Amino acid sequence: MTSFHLDLENSYTELPDVFFTKQPPTPVQKPEVVIFNEKLADQVGLNFSQSSKGEMAKLLSGNLVLEGMQPFAQAYAGHQFGNFTMLGDGRAVVLGEHLTPSGQRLDLQFKGSGRTPYSRGGDGRAALGPMLREYIISEAMHYLGIPTTRSLAVVATGETVYRENELPGAILTRIAGSHIRVGTFEFASLHDDKSITLALLDYLIDRHFPEIKEMNNQPLALLEAMIEQQAELITDWMRVGFIHGVMNTDNMALSGETIDYGPCAFMDSFDPATVFSSIDRNGRYSYSNQPYIAQWNLARLAESLIPLIHQEREEAIGMAENALNAFEEVYKCKWLAMMGSKLGLLEAKKEDEKLITELLDWMHQSSADFTNTFRDFCKPDLPDEEAYLSENFQNWHTRWQLRLEKEEQGLDSSLSLMRSVNPAVIPRNHKVEEALQAGEKGDFNPLQNLLKALENPYEGGDLLTPYQTPPKPSEKVLQTFCGT
Ligand code: AMP
Ligand code: MG
Repeated sequence: MTSFHLDLENSYTELPDVFFTKQPPTPVQKPEVVIFNEKLADQVGLNFSQSSKGEMAKLLSGNLVLEGMQPFAQAYAGHQFGNFTMLGDGRAVVLGEHLTPSGQRLDLQFKGSGRTPYSRGGDGRAALGPMLREYIISEAMHYLGIPTTRSLAVVATGETVYRENELPGAILTRIAGSHIRVGTFEFASLHDDKSITLALLDYLIDRHFPEIKEMNNQPLALLEAMIEQQAELITDWMRVGFIHGVMNTDNMALSGETIDYGPCAFMDSFDPATVFSSIDRNGRYSYSNQPYIAQWNLARLAESLIPLIHQEREEAIGMAENALNAFEEVYKCKWLAMMGSKLGLLEAKKEDEKLITELLDWMHQSSADFTNTFRDFCKPDLPDEEAYLSENFQNWHTRWQLRLEKEEQGLDSSLSLMRSVNPAVIPRNHKVEEALQAGEKGDFNPLQNLLKALENPYEGGDLLTPYQTPPKPSEKVLQTFCGT
């Protein structure tokens, strides 16, 4: 018997049966908690204080399924690198939905918890390194103020997973607003019955967008809301130099959260064509392609909604196309405002675009560090660095200063605006790798120190210094891997 009590709901399993399969996690040999997010548990009102370490390990590995829990794997489809595929949770189960004290409904999901009917050829398992990687990056994103799924715990399974090498196995507990993806709608629309898509639409609107319930054309209103939301999310990614790496439609969550941290990474020196993922050979998901891909993915969502938007197909297509065409402008406005704020401008204007693109061109040509350059700009005086002495940069800098003088709010306000959007620290790849490698050998100190440094990214301070230096050539991580 456990002293732990967890009341989970299962609203998702009231959807038509096609959307899920009830599936318990597969028990593991020797579960041990590697990391547990106490702050997050407190924040969402999950109280584990009554349970022993052993109980926590059993619970967070799926070795113990509490009475009333009905874990299930979700069905979905998706476009992976542009190609349509049937997918589904091949190594994940949703344990259920937890209601926070403030009434928010959150999915608790295991990743790496064994095979499901959607596993295809996979073993249903995950390795420790990639699960810790998701933990680090998702927490970093949260503290950077970017919507994201969160990580509650990583438990080592005591089992070996077989990839190119033999690796220690692990299970991640993820917390998310929900796990409904563009690919869930693609899956729904495959059925020759539009009530299936309608059920999903109603569910999504009830759970995340109750205001849409009042609207006349709900599927169209949802599409418009998604355009706004994804444009906002991608703008946030661009602000901090984040590259998701696998923006397949099954990895775009309609809760608006960044989801599925695989080969994602943050850029060190600025290059718009940056790609880290080993499987992204054509740069489809490069830094600067992310907004285009978001729009492409939203077009797949729109296609799934066509039969619900209007009875006449042609009419529906016209309406969806109109909505989708707005993405570019919506994104551009958000991007301009965001880049303006990185330069201390309260309201960037169309004319400011040139100042911004010239800076980015200079950063690209001189391989300037994306994070540190903008953080240097937050200081009253630029540091004495060679790159800033070049004539090219000095000319730009003079023009920027003249532009800043036109801001009504004064320099101090501009600087504090800049400090609130330009992080002093990001999870640099080489530091993440260092922490993961130590973790795989059983030393979790570098991981804990890194996580601590990432908790206050906008504040600066001495604690951050070891994490601010760009990698030396020998430390550079050029490729990241999916971790599947
Ligand atoms: P991802 O690239 O992580 O979004 O995964 C794409 C799909 O592959 C999802 O349906 C996953 O559930 C599935 N998948 C990834 N790794 C495994 C695995 N080891 N075993 C079974 N399915 C997997
Ligand atoms: Mg995925």
